[in-house]
Amino acid sequence: MTVAKHAASRCRRIAVLGLLLAITLSIGAASQNTDYSIMSWAYGVVIWPGQLNTYLTVPERFVERLEAAAEEAFGFWGYELPEPEDEWPCPVRYAGRLLIDGPYDVRIVDEATGRETVVPSLEWSGARLSPFVVIPFVGEWRMHDALGTTATFGAQFFDQPLVRTYPDAEDWIHEVGRGYRTMICASYAGDDVLIHEFAHWFQWEWCSGHDVLAMLLPGFIREGMAEMTAAEAENLPHAPWERRGVIDWAEGHCLADGVGAASRYTVGESFMTYLVEQLGTEGFLATLKGWTSDPVPLIERHEPGWRVWLGLPESCGSDSE
Ligand SMILES: [Zn+2]
Repeated sequence: MTVAKHAASRCRRIAVLGLLLAITLSIGAASQNTDYSIMSWAYGVVIWPGQLNTYLTVPERFVERLEAAAEEAFGFWGYELPEPEDEWPCPVRYAGRLLIDGPYDVRIVDEATGRETVVPSLEWSGARLSPFVVIPFVGEWRMHDALGTTATFGAQFFDQPLVRTYPDAEDWIHEVGRGYRTMICASYAGDDVLIHEFAHWFQWEWCSGHDVLAMLLPGFIREGMAEMTAAEAENLPHAPWERRGVIDWAEGHCLADGVGAASRYTVGESFMTYLVEQLGTEGFLATLKGWTSDPVPLIERHEPGWRVWLGLPESCGSDSE
């Protein structure tokens, strides 16, 4: 947590400078007919679809919230944040287009002035990471216009570009969606949503660095981790209702039979909270490899204790009482 606090002010320290630059740059940007606007954030760029609409969102404030959410997510697991390889002031608005020629070749090119700005790659735990591209849409309808009706908000981490997932997306998405660390979100997303998505970022990088394929994690572990990381920022009045739902689920189901898409967030969060209480964060992370290769022994070891923790009989299934 102290590490997270230490890094917390990177954006805010230069926010004033950013605002001054923003006034200058936005005059330039307004004269160009762009389909997106670019702003730096601590770990990459924010791509604002269309013209920056400051009536709906204060962009600088959103960038601050993004950074705080990333800090929260990595800090929760006791890890330091990625570091840009070069100086990267934020939030700064840039005129021009984003060119992505590879995971580590991301540039902002302003054709009007010929100016090129390199978006620095990140360094984390000895690994080089692609800059993180955030695309905040003003609403779901706008996201569906841009990406296609099957698109959903969420963070996406690939060893291939986002555009492959959305081949029919608008042209500008093909330009900015070539990144390898991409979050599609709503500009009105709450802190809990942003922390949830950055918890997936942490999950992805931790797994990549430890020879674990994050995409093979059972859904209730993958989403449970993210939900638990964001739990403190979540709407507290929901908590008793969610807990009731989890108990109802556990009364009728066993983890070994899988957890459906609708329940994996709440059931996963509950199970993860129990696991981290038992194992600690590092102890839990050490089990991730096992969750991808053979979850059964892990379920057998931990499900009975979780059920007792919920106030239920130890074994699940119809003969449990
Ligand atoms: Zn998720």
